[in-house]
Amino acid sequence: MKANLKLRTVHGHSCIWLSVFVFQCCFQLSASLLFWTAYVEVRYFDSVSNETVGSICECGVFGADSPIFSASGLLVLPNSDPLACSKNTTFNAKQQKWIALVKNGDCTYSQKIRAAWRNGASAVVIYNIDGTGNNTELMAHPDATNIVAIMVGNILGTEMAELVNKGSDVYVAIAVAKTYGWWYSGTWAYSLSFTFIGITAITLFYFAYLFIKRMYRNQQLKKQEMEMKRENEKAIAKLEVRTLRTGDPEVESEDVICVVCTESFRHNEKVTVLPCRHFYHKKCIEPWLLEHPTCPMCKFHILKYKIDEEIDEPPSSSSPSSDTFRLSVIRTEQLHTSDSRNTDPLGRPSGSGPEIQTQHIYENLAFEEEAERMEHQNINSQG
Ligand SMILES: [Zn+2]
Ligand SMILES: [Zn+2]
Repeated sequence: MKANLKLRTVHGHSCIWLSVFVFQCCFQLSASLLFWTAYVEVRYFDSVSNETVGSICECGVFGADSPIFSASGLLVLPNSDPLACSKNTTFNAKQQKWIALVKNGDCTYSQKIRAAWRNGASAVVIYNIDGTGNNTELMAHPDATNIVAIMVGNILGTEMAELVNKGSDVYVAIAVAKTYGWWYSGTWAYSLSFTFIGITAITLFYFAYLFIKRMYRNQQLKKQEMEMKRENEKAIAKLEVRTLRTGDPEVESEDVICVVCTESFRHNEKVTVLPCRHFYHKKCIEPWLLEHPTCPMCKFHILKYKIDEEIDEPPSSSSPSSDTFRLSVIRTEQLHTSDSRNTDPLGRPSGSGPEIQTQHIYENLAFEEEAERMEHQNINSQG
């Protein structure tokens, strides 16, 4: 019972931990799938038209590990490698506040962002590879989180790079726009759906496993209980039963009572005598023994007695003499000489030599009355 309780507690704890784990996974997943867009304002002086040209669009996406801040400055390209993958990448910055413009490809986002940061850029604009149009990606750059990093499409990035290459001073201002969830991108929606379905399925399977395990355990316990009851029934059927007659010491004495019902014993009542020599009303003790195969007074185990008896006695004496009922010899001598049970509650002498008591014990209780009648007839015919 205690082990069962402990098992339930362990199951309860594992359920709570699993729920916390699933919740944390969902939370982290949804947090990692949120992203911010950026307004990108581009201004430059057009020497042909002799005027300042400007445009603004919500066309940038903040990197997943970027600070979500505004930034502004003059756009500067890397000196040699437009991809800024080399450790020796340098930028020709003329002003204190400047933004690096780097092309995507060949190395990680972190490497590009770190190169710009080393050279003192206040932000990095990474534009996508050729042939991707205005598409952007959500950049992951866990090793470069110091400065603002956004991605813009290839078309805008290439235009800005050409302007800078022509010698124009291109001024860029980055501002925080909006946050979007996974639903913004179809691929993410699918990924998240599959993840969610996966987690739900695993959780369901786990709970189903726990349920089946518990059902199986309960079934086993019930089976054991039934088996125990059957064993108890067998042991009860083998117990000594006496019918009290007028003149029996326990009928006359008001001090001798059945401890189950606390009533004294009356003439013609049936009493069950346990191997420990404690006795009770038959109708009182049998329901008790079915549930607990022990004597209510001294805790003597009637099943244990049965086992001891089977070991001690030679097999020939315990073999059934007929199919319907059998006789069994209980060695009361063995019980009377034991240290803990010297007194006989029935009032018979306990230490007066070996005393063999022959007793009728029936596998089927329906034969009890019949056998008693036959016994009386035998006595009468002998007399
Ligand atoms: Zn009773
Ligand atoms: Zn007892």
